[in-house]
Amino acid sequence: MRFASLQLNNSTVLIPEQLSPTQDSSLLHPISYYKSFPLQPIGKSFKPNFQLLQVLQGKHLLIDEIPFPLLDLHAHYLNGFIHIEAGLQFKEGELTCIRCGSKRSFSSFSCARCKTKDCRYCRNCIVMGKVSSCSPLYSASASFQPKESSISLEWTGTLSSGQREASQAVTRAIKRNEDLLVWAVCGSGKTEVLFRGLEEALSQNKTICIATPRTDVVLELFPRFKKVFPSIDLSALYGGSSKDSSRFVISTTHQLIRYKEFFDVMIIDEVDAFPYNADSSLQYAVEKSRKKTSSLIYLTATPPKSMIRNRQNIVRIPARFHGFSLPIPSLTWIGNWRKKIEKEKLPSILIEWIQQQIDDRKPVLLFLPSIKLIDKITPLLNEYIQCEGVHSEDKDRVNKVMKFRNNELPVLLSSTILERGITIPNVSVAVIGAEDDVFTESALVQIAGRAGRSKDYPDGSVRFFHYGKTNDMIAAICHINDMNREADERGWLK
Ligand SMILES: [Zn+2]
Ligand SMILES: [Zn+2]
Repeated sequence: MRFASLQLNNSTVLIPEQLSPTQDSSLLHPISYYKSFPLQPIGKSFKPNFQLLQVLQGKHLLIDEIPFPLLDLHAHYLNGFIHIEAGLQFKEGELTCIRCGSKRSFSSFSCARCKTKDCRYCRNCIVMGKVSSCSPLYSASASFQPKESSISLEWTGTLSSGQREASQAVTRAIKRNEDLLVWAVCGSGKTEVLFRGLEEALSQNKTICIATPRTDVVLELFPRFKKVFPSIDLSALYGGSSKDSSRFVISTTHQLIRYKEFFDVMIIDEVDAFPYNADSSLQYAVEKSRKKTSSLIYLTATPPKSMIRNRQNIVRIPARFHGFSLPIPSLTWIGNWRKKIEKEKLPSILIEWIQQQIDDRKPVLLFLPSIKLIDKITPLLNEYIQCEGVHSEDKDRVNKVMKFRNNELPVLLSSTILERGITIPNVSVAVIGAEDDVFTESALVQIAGRAGRSKDYPDGSVRFFHYGKTNDMIAAICHINDMNREADERGWLK
């Protein structure tokens, strides 16, 4: 869009081309031409449209995302109720997308809105609408008025000793607007640890976001929170969801780029998971979407070292909810297995181990380093045992995992996509080629964390088949041993 600069009641205001009294092209410029969009004083006699403010409060929206006429938006801007800024700005000498924080991947196009041949736009967040040199971003300061009358937590479960300690730490961090890392082993029940703190936050009218890098986790968490906070208007945000939002949202980290200084409580589940750990613009989105004074809580079983260093506030849950220790992976050398597979053969130790699990009536989950290897090994293994493979690009993934869950499929081969979040009672877990670079310490700890989760079958079997021990394999085993020792010392093991 182009704007003209006008003097109105002794102050400078910017006015969109469509509403401007002048249509002289030399006076109309893309929004990025102006150094800043002056904030207007509150118009005392102006009656704002609360529906419009509700759509814009704490948000960072493009004009196409706002279901109100430009004239209304402009009137709210003139009266100090909404703030406008250029979507692309120079920060420290570098072109920066103010919505997603990206400083690279820009392209140019011939733009009808600003009538230039080389209007630049951000490629990084293009899937959420184009932020270009002439795109204004609209926002209104957040002051949420909740519709609910009462907040009740409807949960009658009990917390384990470890969960109770973490729950108190979460509540304290929320009350004091502090940061906290909840380092909770796989199967410790980290979701329940949030309930009391969130009840407290809701009773104080705070805005809450539970963010996760993955849509599957949003879909899994949403019904769980809906069930325990039935009177609260809860929103699930992910690519393709409706954009309606409330004061309590469960969102993918991607969707947070549409927010600005909105949340009092920001909880990041699986902070070390892809793509959050690898994408600085998602980290920017999290920072931008929370208020300057707010609480930031990280939840994970495998925090990155950089997160543990320099952090004062950490609470650990070293024990699983059911009180049995974490299964320790065992290592088995299988020689040059890749060469064997090239010759269409499988290591016999591997076949024997899988057969043993089947004989013991255990479902078998096998992790492989790449999609190519899954495609190669699945037919070879199928000559012995019924099996299927899944990976991120597999459209039939949900179906195959469902068959595995329902015991209709004895063996499932997977990429690291299933390293988190899957719970199958009595499952035996193995990694083939554990020496591969994709199997970092945290990936191996998460994979081992799939076993023994159910209280009816707490001792699962975990095996790392390898062609040479790596530091990550050793570190993963030490990590799990340390947690078991700590849980034991605290008297939290059965
Ligand atoms: Zn962007
Ligand atoms: Zn343009």
